Amino acid sequence: MNSLLKGEDLPGLIIAIDGPSGAGKSTLSKALAAELGYVNIDTGAMYRAVALLATRRQLALDDASALRLLCRQMQLEFRRNGGQERVFVNGEDISTAIRLPEVSLLTSKVAACSAVREELVQMQQQLGEKGGVVLEGRDIGTVVFPQADIKFFLTASAEERGQRRFEELRAKGMSVDLQQTIAEVRARDAADSSREHAPLCRAEDAIDIDSTALGIDQVLALMLGMVKERLEN
Ligand code: C5P
Repeated sequence: MNSLLKGEDLPGLIIAIDGPSGAGKSTLSKALAAELGYVNIDTGAMYRAVALLATRRQLALDDASALRLLCRQMQLEFRRNGGQERVFVNGEDISTAIRLPEVSLLTSKVAACSAVREELVQMQQQLGEKGGVVLEGRDIGTVVFPQADIKFFLTASAEERGQRRFEELRAKGMSVDLQQTIAEVRARDAADSSREHAPLCRAEDAIDIDSTALGIDQVLALMLGMVKERLEN
């Protein structure tokens, strides 16, 4: 890996990584943040947390004022535990619960609510405004930080993304079906791309990376090369 960057006193860039689910955003933004000594902000986990809490409280997923209140009251924290990043809400570790397939599907519904988006975007802007951050999501380069220093748009084919999700869930001991996982990836793509508020779309000035045929290390090396270039110019 490009160790030239590691440990240097780097200026605090704002790096955006957007793209559809399963393209490798989470793994890469964590790895990129670790290489640069930056903070990683997983904005999908924030939407997932809202979906989980809303279901537990049996809120209607189109009840904008109840969802807004939930966001305002939610105490969200990202904590590092050794090499692992854990998400806590109101003191509870929800890292595993928010990754369940049923929560993934509900999250797209919650994420379509403009009140939820307003609240979470504001939180994300506060978390990232000082720089030295890698934010991953769907609307970072277009809505949250249109002025981000570098924007990556990471994609891969739906089949490849479904396959990766399937293997990830199976490794966690969950019983899953490959075709169903690919169908869920497609359903989420459709919901995320067609929603009225901040649909998934690439920023005009984003750098496209297709990870279908690339390994994590190859994509990370590409990203680090581009960050280095940006820092030198
Ligand atoms: O990235 P992840 O798969 O964890 O995101 C879960 C869901 O949260 C997405 O399918 C999308 O509906 C929503 N999301 C969003 N905007 C973001 C991040 C995630 O709408 N910035």
